[in-house]
Amino acid sequence: MDKKKIIKVALKDDFKCECGNQSHLDGFYPCNEDGEYVEPSPSWKGHYKCDSCDQIYAPTNLGFLF
Ligand SMILES: [Zn+2]
Repeated sequence: MDKKKIIKVALKDDFKCECGNQSHLDGFYPCNEDGEYVEPSPSWKGHYKCDSCDQIYAPTNLGFLF
């Protein structure tokens, strides 16, 4: 599986993925840098993955939760 490019972005409630997904549609879920879903734990770095296209986002506003 190709390693996805991680996009840095300021996430907010109305954030829209490049595939058109939004938090109230398929949504975004916490993941690690490899795109594996994780629980939001202290070791989690704040990455989110689009549940529709698997794009990984690294929020520049850490601590943001959908
Ligand atoms: Zn997407």
